[in-house]
Amino acid sequence: MTITVLRAARVLDVMRGVLREGVDVAVRDGTIVAVGPGLDGDSTLDLGDTSLLPGFFDVHLHLTGLRSYDEGRLPDRETAAVRAAKDCAALLAAGFTTVRDCGSAIALTLRPLVADGTIPGPRIFAAGPAICQTGGHADTHHLPLEEVRRQPDALIADGPWQCRQAVRQAIRAGADFIKICTTGGVGTERDHPQDAHFTPEEITAIVEEAHRLGRRVAAHAQGTAGVRAAVLAGVDSIEHGYYLDEECVAEMRERGTFYVPTFALKTFFERTSEGGHGLPEWRLRKQREVVGAMSASLKLARAAGLTIATGSDYYGPPLRRHGDNADEPISMVRDGMPPADALRALTLHGAQVLGLADQAGSIEPGKRADLVAVGGDPLRDIEALRRVGFVIQGGNVVHDRPLRRP
Ligand SMILES: [Zn+2]
Repeated sequence: MTITVLRAARVLDVMRGVLREGVDVAVRDGTIVAVGPGLDGDSTLDLGDTSLLPGFFDVHLHLTGLRSYDEGRLPDRETAAVRAAKDCAALLAAGFTTVRDCGSAIALTLRPLVADGTIPGPRIFAAGPAICQTGGHADTHHLPLEEVRRQPDALIADGPWQCRQAVRQAIRAGADFIKICTTGGVGTERDHPQDAHFTPEEITAIVEEAHRLGRRVAAHAQGTAGVRAAVLAGVDSIEHGYYLDEECVAEMRERGTFYVPTFALKTFFERTSEGGHGLPEWRLRKQREVVGAMSASLKLARAAGLTIATGSDYYGPPLRRHGDNADEPISMVRDGMPPADALRALTLHGAQVLGLADQAGSIEPGKRADLVAVGGDPLRDIEALRRVGFVIQGGNVVHDRPLRRP
C-alpha cells in the first residue's frame, strides 16, 4: 500500500486545542499512519496555506429532503429522497464526513448508498423512526392517528411494553441508535417544550431495551422535567436541553451524558420570529419563549464541563440548509465558547457521541483519514470553518475547490 503525505501549513491538535506548524500527516489505506515533521511517502499532496482539521461531525440533523416549513406541502417520498441525496453531497463538500440523523426514514435508505459509493456524502448513523408518546414530538398532531402510524419517520408508543416494542421495531428498521422524545417541542402544534413526555417507567424501558441490544439513546428533551427524567433513566445524550438547571447538569456530568445543544437554532429562531417565513403563529410563539433560555443553558453546561457536541438540527429548508451546518460551532463561539472548545465539539466530541473516538475525531495515527483543510486560522476566526478547501474521506480527496482569501 502506498503512503500519501498531506502537507498543510497548520495541523490541529484537537486535544490541546492548538494548531501545529511544520507537521505532515501520512495516510495509508484510508488510515492516518504518522503525524510529524518531514514525513516521507510515495506521493505528497500539498494543501497549501490551510489548516488541516479532523472531519466534521453533525450529530443532530435530519435528512428529509424538505425545502419549506409548510407541512401542507410535503414532497412525495421519491422527490424527498433525491433532494436528501443532494444534501448529502452538500454536507460532504462543507467538511462533514460523519453525521447522525436523529429521525428520518430516508437516512436509512441513503446510509448504504453513501457507504457503497453510489452517492457522495458523509458516513451516516441513523435513528430511523423517532419514538414518542401519543401526541408527542414525533407525532403529527393534525393528522388522523392511523395515518401517522403508517408513516416511516415516527413510532408512537404508550406504556413500557409498547416502548420496548418500539425500540425493537426501530432496530428492525435498521436503527444505529434510538431517538426518543421526552418533552414536547417547538415544531409540534399541540404540545409544549416544557411538557414532560413519557413516564420514568417508559423511558427506563426504552433505555434498558436499547442498551441490551447495543444501541445508544438520544433524547429530544427541552424542558427541565423531561431532561431530568431522561438523564436519570440513563439516556446517552440530551438533544436541545433548552432549560437545563444545576441539578440536570450535575447529573449529566456524573453520568457522562453528552449534550447536543443544537445552538444554531437560536439564530434561526431570532431570524424567523418576526414572521414571513411561512411558520405558523403557535410555532413563533414557542420560538420566542425558548430563545431566551438557550444561552443560559449552554453556559451552565460549559461551566459544568459537560461533553458538548455539535448538532445543527438542520433538515433542508432555507435558513436550515444542509451545507450551512458550520453555523452550529460558529453560533456557539459567538455566544462565548472558546474556538478550541467549539472545534472539539465539532470533531472529537462528535466521535465520542457515536462511540467512534477510537477511530475518528482527531488527527492521530490509527484513525481514519477523514480530514478537512480550511483557509485561515479557525482558532482566531471561527468563520474559517466556512472556507473549506479540501475534504478527504477515508484517505481520498472527495472535494477540493480554490480557496477564497480569508
Ligand atoms: Zn431534531
